[in-house]
Amino acid sequence: MATTPIDKVRGWIAGAERVVALTGAGISTDSGIPDFRGPQGVWTKNPLAEKMSDIRYYVADREVRKLSWQNRLHSPAFTARPNTGHMALAELEKRGKLHALITQNIDGLHQRAGVSPEKVIEVHGTVHKAMCLDCGWRGPMLETLARVRAGEEDPECTECGGMLKSDTISFGQQLVPEVIDRAMQVAQECDLLLAAGSTLQVYPVAGAVPLAKRAGAKLIILNAQATQFDDLADAVLNTSIGEALPFIVGA
Ligand SMILES: [Zn+2]
Repeated sequence: MATTPIDKVRGWIAGAERVVALTGAGISTDSGIPDFRGPQGVWTKNPLAEKMSDIRYYVADREVRKLSWQNRLHSPAFTARPNTGHMALAELEKRGKLHALITQNIDGLHQRAGVSPEKVIEVHGTVHKAMCLDCGWRGPMLETLARVRAGEEDPECTECGGMLKSDTISFGQQLVPEVIDRAMQVAQECDLLLAAGSTLQVYPVAGAVPLAKRAGAKLIILNAQATQFDDLADAVLNTSIGEALPFIVGA
């Protein structure tokens, strides 16, 4: 019987020693986290949601901030559970194969699935921390949300009285250079790059893909839709992440 692409990929993972996974929204949709940019995306449905994700509106308008805090209270990221895709990547770490995990997601589900926090490179930050735009203070989001629940509509930084938001990269905000540098570094160190659930459109992180390939890594793209790097890939799987990932990591 002929070897199917998915069997081939399974073999490559079995033989790899330093896998870097790069994940995007597509790995979390099975956990009920909406894809912001997709056709059913939050932004597509609600223009105000996009306004709340733009730092310029956020800092300028207390009403936008009040609404943002109410939204965070009900964010699915605090109740969502990791799915079989997240679990499969955690399994990869248990086997000593996971060099690092670069994610565009802010939901913390990789860590919740059991991936060591030090392996996870969150290029767009995390909703699980609050941060102060003025003094840089950071703390657990749940503590700040408790203040919102207790009646503070737009909680201030307890250190300096400054403006708080989630520790995520909003539109109009700079990425953290050290975080991006680390993502590019691990991409060059891996022997296999597994991109899962990302459309690979957002730079600079998308640049990790050709970088890894040029450094000699095998490239596997697992995504529902085509990406700009499909031609560069050693294998492209346009299939369900929740089903394919456990199979290819041999979980
Ligand atoms: Zn502060």
